[in-house]
Amino acid sequence: LFSGPADFIWAAESTRSLPPMKMLEIAFAGRSNVGKSSLVNALTGRKTLARTSHTPGRTQQLNFFDVNGRFTLVDMPGYGFAAVAKNKVEAWTDLIHDYLRGRSNLARVFVLVDARHGLKDIDNAVMDTLDKSAVSYQVVLTKTDEVKKADLPGRVEATRAALARRPAAYPEIAVTSSRSGAGVPELRAAIAQLLAE
Ligand code: GDP
Repeated sequence: LFSGPADFIWAAESTRSLPPMKMLEIAFAGRSNVGKSSLVNALTGRKTLARTSHTPGRTQQLNFFDVNGRFTLVDMPGYGFAAVAKNKVEAWTDLIHDYLRGRSNLARVFVLVDARHGLKDIDNAVMDTLDKSAVSYQVVLTKTDEVKKADLPGRVEATRAALARRPAAYPEIAVTSSRSGAGVPELRAAIAQLLAE
């Protein structure tokens, strides 16, 4: 599934310019610096896939990648960067809301959460948006190599308890590190499973 090329196909700054709904889409979202580019690159085995600029306040856009003609990987703009003005946050919400509305080929949104920090208000606000749009999402803990082994089960359990109240959250939490590679094969398998459904 992931062993061939993943090609950048489309960038959309507004929902007027979304690509056609050809294949199933799987989207990745998370706070700026959560490790999204690293994880996407680890998943696809390509260093150049997520060509995200790290300039805060850059134009918000959705980037679409064709993964071997099997599915479209959607890189959502990072949110919650402290230096980004409130109107940028609103622009993010508007773009994402518009994108989620009627995107019937969107199979799942992976919501990346830094294992060291856990769920933040902004993550919950994003999941509220996903709930409203009835889009299924799954939390992925990132950078677990930075958490003491003994602390990790507690972090996962706390996240699970917080998610239990949400209507559209997929119950399983992916526990990953793109640095050590932990959880990456499992995440690939989860994507393969979604495509097979
Ligand atoms: P993005 O802004 O969400 O795309 O995040 P990046 O992938 O660019 O990563 C942000 C920072 O976190 C970089 O300095 C990465 O080296 C670091 N990082 C990413 N993934 C991991 C990880 O699994 N473990 C550790 N320790 N650091 C990571």
